[in-house]
Amino acid sequence: MYVRIMLATPVDVAVAGLRAAYDALADCDLEVLTRPELLSVLDELETLSCQLPVQWRRALTRLQTETTPNELGAKSWKDVLRLRWRISATEANRRLAEAAELGPRRALTGQPLAPTLAATATAQGLGLINGEHVKVLREAIRRLPGFVDALTREQFEIDLVRVAVGVGPKELKDTAELRLFLLDQDGPEPDDTERARRRGFSVGNQGRDAMSALTGNLTPEARAIWEVIFAKYAAPGMCNPEDVEPCTSGTPTQAQIDNDHRNLAQRQHDALIVIGRIALMSGDLGQLNGLPVSVIIRTTLKELESRAGIGVTGGATLLPITDVIRMAAHANHHLAVFDQATGSALELFRARRTASPAQRIMLIARDGGCTKPGCTVGAYGSQVHHATTDWAHGGNTNVNDMTLACGPDNRLVDNDNGWTTTINHHGDVEWHPPPHLDTGQTRINYHHRPELLLHPPNNQHPPNEDEPPQSNASEPLPNDDTAKPTIVARDTESIRDTEPFTPRTPIDDAKPPPSEPDRDTPHTPEVFDPGQHIGDDQANEDENPERGP
Ligand SMILES: [Zn+2]
Repeated sequence: MYVRIMLATPVDVAVAGLRAAYDALADCDLEVLTRPELLSVLDELETLSCQLPVQWRRALTRLQTETTPNELGAKSWKDVLRLRWRISATEANRRLAEAAELGPRRALTGQPLAPTLAATATAQGLGLINGEHVKVLREAIRRLPGFVDALTREQFEIDLVRVAVGVGPKELKDTAELRLFLLDQDGPEPDDTERARRRGFSVGNQGRDAMSALTGNLTPEARAIWEVIFAKYAAPGMCNPEDVEPCTSGTPTQAQIDNDHRNLAQRQHDALIVIGRIALMSGDLGQLNGLPVSVIIRTTLKELESRAGIGVTGGATLLPITDVIRMAAHANHHLAVFDQATGSALELFRARRTASPAQRIMLIARDGGCTKPGCTVGAYGSQVHHATTDWAHGGNTNVNDMTLACGPDNRLVDNDNGWTTTINHHGDVEWHPPPHLDTGQTRINYHHRPELLLHPPNNQHPPNEDEPPQSNASEPLPNDDTAKPTIVARDTESIRDTEPFTPRTPIDDAKPPPSEPDRDTPHTPEVFDPGQHIGDDQANEDENPERGP
């Protein structure tokens, strides 16, 4: 029989000492300590907490050279950490990455090498920086541009570690950002082209909650402009919709500031609304397809009166009716109210070739957007098109003879082997494909008239088989700036009464518009060009641009 004596390694002794010291501390009575004594105890504990991970990493990297995850019964090192120490995959990944960058290394020949981030590792080993500093440092170094050489890289790290020793992670991050920015400036390739290429600003589709996500990349110039505007209009107390009288100019009162519980993102959002409204009301925005640039909302009297339902803007945005009513309280929005009760039209016959602003508004109210089947371009992107007979061929400039069409579709209309348009006896615009494309497709576009889905007309035919509510230049409602909405802009000189509204009969062949090959990607609305003249209907009129009251 022999006795096998287990000799404790120095590591065992040290760890046992650490454990003993911990237990001893845990047994200590802290009640007797003074404030300075307590602070220095906390200092020491904090330093030790910064230092301990260094030892953990050393042991881990050693283990990694000693064995493989398979031998330990896991499929990866991440799993080893996750399972043995019950940490998340994220935390396991972080520790492994830190071990790789901050842990000791060995050359293939076995020689010890300094860690990749030697300065960071040293500072943490001395307890001078904490885990948060390490995170910022690693991230900053990771983002160094590829053209930075090894020496500069090392110096960059050392400089930042020096900063880290004296400040918190936030200040360290700011410093790192600034240095990265300056380094980028010194880079071998001027970045202006790249910036110009990547600039952008997109509004996503409306979600089912009616919200839209923004994505974008601002150029430094755009950022500079918006930061100062936001500094003013997104300051606490400014443009707060919860205030009875939101402050939109000057300085908010102390009460307004104190009552502002919005976060920065919310304040900037509200600022965007106010700035947009100021721009709209300035009158400096000119015209869009023949109308002053303004928000145009279609809705029905029924929805307004019931305070339920939706309005649809000329850009096809769906607005809850409560928003419509609130927006109508501001003077510069046209609200085209139309009903199924009467029909009337604004007719100019041959007096002029281009539609009047009032006619445009009524067409927007009636058609909602491009009437070509499958086209999703809203009213803001559409022009007035003589649907029955071209002006050149004696057509009349009457609402009932005209329709909305986006520029590209308007240009497709060509009586010689192109698309043709007619208005059927229900008043719907029908688009007839060129003979060699005609496979009997749906002729009518219902895309822009979602109210038909919400409120099928009284005769209860399914929406797609029924007529849209008739446009109606009914009595102009006063714009009295109250919550009761308001405006039907009209051309008083040219309004004529026409025959009474005749209820339509169902359309037999109407189906949901098919997706046509050239309509798979809806084209974007054209940018308004004041000089643009397209087809037989100009988008723009110089004469007598009628403004909303
Ligand atoms: Zn179109």
